[in-house]
Amino acid sequence: MFKDNRSGTVVVVLNCVINHNARAMGAARCPGINTDLLKVLTDHGAGIIQMPCPERIVIDLPRTRSEGTDIRTAMDTPERLAHCQQLVMGVVAEIKEFLACGYKVPAILGGDVKSPGCAVPADTTDQATRDAGHQWGIFTGMLKTELEKQGLEIPIRGIRDSAEKTLRADLAWLEERLSAC
Ligand code: SF4
Repeated sequence: MFKDNRSGTVVVVLNCVINHNARAMGAARCPGINTDLLKVLTDHGAGIIQMPCPERIVIDLPRTRSEGTDIRTAMDTPERLAHCQQLVMGVVAEIKEFLACGYKVPAILGGDVKSPGCAVPADTTDQATRDAGHQWGIFTGMLKTELEKQGLEIPIRGIRDSAEKTLRADLAWLEERLSAC
Protein backbone atom coordinates (compact mmCIF):
# COMPACT_ATOMS: atom_id res chain seq x y z
CA MET A 1 0.00 0.00 0.00
CA PHE A 2 2.81 2.42 0.85
CA LYS A 3 5.73 2.83 -1.52
CA ASP A 4 8.52 4.57 0.37
CA ASN A 5 11.30 3.71 2.78
CA ARG A 6 9.27 2.13 5.55
CA SER A 7 9.95 -1.44 6.60
CA GLY A 8 6.34 -2.50 7.00
CA THR A 9 7.10 -4.00 10.42
CA VAL A 10 5.95 -2.65 13.76
CA VAL A 11 6.37 -4.05 17.25
CA VAL A 12 3.89 -3.28 20.01
CA VAL A 13 5.88 -2.07 23.01
CA LEU A 14 5.04 -1.41 26.64
CA ASN A 15 5.10 2.26 27.44
CA CYS A 16 7.84 2.40 30.03
CA VAL A 17 10.52 0.44 28.22
CA ILE A 18 11.06 3.54 26.15
CA ASN A 19 10.34 5.83 29.09
CA HIS A 20 11.44 4.45 32.43
CA ASN A 21 10.28 7.72 33.96
CA ALA A 22 6.75 6.33 33.82
CA ARG A 23 7.55 3.50 36.22
CA ALA A 24 6.54 3.14 39.84
CA MET A 25 9.06 4.24 42.46
CA GLY A 26 12.01 1.85 42.55
CA ALA A 27 11.26 0.11 39.25
CA ALA A 28 13.27 2.22 36.80
CA ARG A 29 16.28 0.31 35.49
CA CYS A 30 17.76 3.05 33.33
CA PRO A 31 17.45 6.84 33.05
CA GLY A 32 14.98 6.86 30.19
CA ILE A 33 15.03 4.54 27.19
CA ASN A 34 16.10 0.92 27.21
CA THR A 35 18.68 1.42 24.49
CA ASP A 36 19.36 -2.31 24.11
CA LEU A 37 15.78 -2.89 23.05
CA LEU A 38 15.83 0.18 20.85
CA LYS A 39 18.96 -1.13 19.11
CA VAL A 40 17.29 -4.44 18.29
CA LEU A 41 14.29 -2.64 16.84
CA THR A 42 16.46 -0.17 14.95
CA ASP A 43 18.75 -2.87 13.55
CA HIS A 44 15.71 -4.60 12.08
CA GLY A 45 14.06 -1.44 10.84
CA ALA A 46 11.01 -2.02 13.01
CA GLY A 47 8.71 0.77 14.09
CA ILE A 48 6.97 1.00 17.44
CA ILE A 49 3.38 1.07 18.56
CA GLN A 50 3.81 2.39 22.09
CA MET A 51 1.09 1.12 24.39
CA PRO A 52 -0.23 3.39 27.15
CA CYS A 53 1.01 2.96 30.72
CA PRO A 54 -2.09 1.61 32.45
CA GLU A 55 -0.93 2.23 36.02
CA ARG A 56 -0.11 5.87 35.33
CA ILE A 57 -3.33 6.46 33.44
CA VAL A 58 -5.84 4.73 35.70
CA ILE A 59 -4.15 5.69 38.99
CA ASP A 60 -1.51 8.39 38.40
CA LEU A 61 2.24 8.75 38.01
CA PRO A 62 3.10 8.37 41.72
CA ARG A 63 0.55 5.49 42.01
CA THR A 64 -1.26 7.32 44.79
CA ARG A 65 -3.15 4.89 47.00
CA SER A 66 -4.01 4.35 50.61
CA GLU A 67 -1.35 2.99 52.92
CA GLY A 68 -1.05 -0.76 52.77
CA THR A 69 -2.79 -1.02 49.40
CA ASP A 70 -0.68 -2.48 46.63
CA ILE A 71 -0.83 -1.21 43.04
CA ARG A 72 -2.67 -4.23 41.70
CA THR A 73 -5.39 -3.86 44.29
CA ALA A 74 -5.60 -0.13 43.61
CA MET A 75 -6.23 -0.86 39.91
CA ASP A 76 -8.81 -3.50 40.63
CA THR A 77 -11.96 -1.38 40.90
CA PRO A 78 -14.85 -1.49 38.41
CA GLU A 79 -14.06 2.01 37.11
CA ARG A 80 -10.35 1.39 36.71
CA LEU A 81 -10.86 -2.01 35.12
CA ALA A 82 -13.27 -0.42 32.64
CA HIS A 83 -10.66 2.25 31.94
CA CYS A 84 -8.04 -0.46 31.34
CA GLN A 85 -10.40 -2.20 28.95
CA GLN A 86 -10.82 1.07 27.04
CA LEU A 87 -7.04 1.33 26.75
CA VAL A 88 -6.88 -2.27 25.54
CA MET A 89 -9.48 -1.57 22.86
CA GLY A 90 -7.42 1.37 21.64
CA VAL A 91 -4.30 -0.77 21.35
CA VAL A 92 -6.17 -3.56 19.56
CA ALA A 93 -7.71 -1.06 17.14
CA GLU A 94 -4.27 0.36 16.37
CA ILE A 95 -2.82 -3.10 15.77
CA LYS A 96 -5.73 -3.99 13.49
CA GLU A 97 -5.27 -0.84 11.46
CA PHE A 98 -1.63 -1.67 10.77
CA LEU A 99 -2.46 -5.29 9.97
CA ALA A 100 -5.23 -4.20 7.61
CA CYS A 101 -2.69 -2.08 5.73
CA GLY A 102 -0.41 -5.07 5.24
CA TYR A 103 2.06 -4.47 8.05
CA LYS A 104 3.70 -7.26 9.98
CA VAL A 105 3.25 -7.15 13.75
CA PRO A 106 5.56 -9.92 14.95
CA ALA A 107 5.48 -9.28 18.70
CA ILE A 108 3.85 -7.55 21.61
CA LEU A 109 6.24 -6.66 24.42
CA GLY A 110 4.80 -6.48 27.92
CA GLY A 111 6.38 -5.93 31.28
CA ASP A 112 8.45 -7.84 33.77
CA VAL A 113 6.87 -10.64 35.77
CA LYS A 114 5.99 -8.56 38.82
CA SER A 115 4.38 -5.62 37.06
CA PRO A 116 0.83 -5.17 38.39
CA GLY A 117 -0.24 -3.55 35.12
CA CYS A 118 1.79 -5.27 32.43
CA ALA A 119 3.27 -8.54 33.66
CA VAL A 120 3.55 -11.39 31.21
CA PRO A 121 4.15 -14.76 32.81
CA ALA A 122 6.56 -15.00 29.92
CA ASP A 123 8.89 -17.74 29.12
CA THR A 124 6.90 -20.92 29.42
CA THR A 125 10.11 -22.81 28.75
CA ASP A 126 11.55 -21.36 31.94
CA GLN A 127 10.79 -23.70 34.85
CA ALA A 128 11.65 -21.08 37.45
CA THR A 129 9.12 -18.68 35.97
CA ARG A 130 6.43 -21.33 35.92
CA ASP A 131 7.22 -22.41 39.46
CA ALA A 132 7.05 -18.85 40.72
CA GLY A 133 3.38 -18.78 39.72
CA HIS A 134 3.60 -15.41 38.03
CA GLN A 135 0.34 -14.03 36.78
CA TRP A 136 -0.66 -11.70 33.98
CA GLY A 137 -0.79 -8.00 34.74
CA ILE A 138 -4.25 -6.46 34.77
CA PHE A 139 -3.77 -4.66 31.45
CA THR A 140 -1.81 -7.37 29.66
CA GLY A 141 -4.24 -10.04 30.81
CA MET A 142 -7.11 -8.04 29.34
CA LEU A 143 -5.12 -7.46 26.16
CA LYS A 144 -4.44 -11.16 25.76
CA THR A 145 -8.12 -11.96 26.24
CA GLU A 146 -9.20 -9.33 23.71
CA LEU A 147 -6.67 -10.48 21.13
CA GLU A 148 -7.92 -14.04 21.47
CA LYS A 149 -11.52 -12.87 21.24
CA GLN A 150 -10.75 -11.05 18.01
CA GLY A 151 -8.72 -13.94 16.58
CA LEU A 152 -5.42 -12.07 16.53
CA GLU A 153 -2.48 -14.38 17.06
CA ILE A 154 0.47 -12.22 18.02
CA PRO A 155 2.97 -13.56 20.54
CA ILE A 156 3.20 -11.57 23.77
CA ARG A 157 6.38 -11.63 25.76
CA GLY A 158 7.53 -9.65 28.75
CA ILE A 159 10.72 -7.65 28.65
CA ARG A 160 12.21 -8.82 31.95
CA ASP A 161 14.71 -6.05 32.46
CA SER A 162 15.07 -6.54 36.22
CA ALA A 163 17.96 -8.92 35.48
CA GLU A 164 20.53 -8.86 32.72
CA LYS A 165 20.14 -12.57 31.97
CA THR A 166 16.39 -12.48 31.41
CA LEU A 167 16.63 -9.23 29.44
CA ARG A 168 19.17 -10.84 27.11
CA ALA A 169 16.91 -13.87 26.65
CA ASP A 170 13.94 -11.67 25.81
CA LEU A 171 15.93 -9.55 23.36
CA ALA A 172 17.25 -12.70 21.68
CA TRP A 173 13.66 -13.90 21.28
CA LEU A 174 12.70 -10.56 19.75
CA GLU A 175 15.66 -10.74 17.36
CA GLU A 176 14.42 -14.14 16.21
CA ARG A 177 10.90 -12.85 15.66
CA LEU A 178 12.18 -9.89 13.66
CA SER A 179 14.63 -11.96 11.65
CA ALA A 180 11.76 -14.18 10.56
CA CYS A 181 9.79 -11.22 9.14
S1 SF4 B 1 2.12 -0.28 34.07
FE1 SF4 B 1 3.20 -1.17 32.32
S2 SF4 B 1 3.84 0.55 31.08
FE2 SF4 B 1 3.31 1.33 33.10
S3 SF4 B 1 5.23 1.37 34.20
FE3 SF4 B 1 4.25 -0.57 34.66
S4 SF4 B 1 5.10 -2.02 33.17
FE4 SF4 B 1 5.50 0.04 32.43
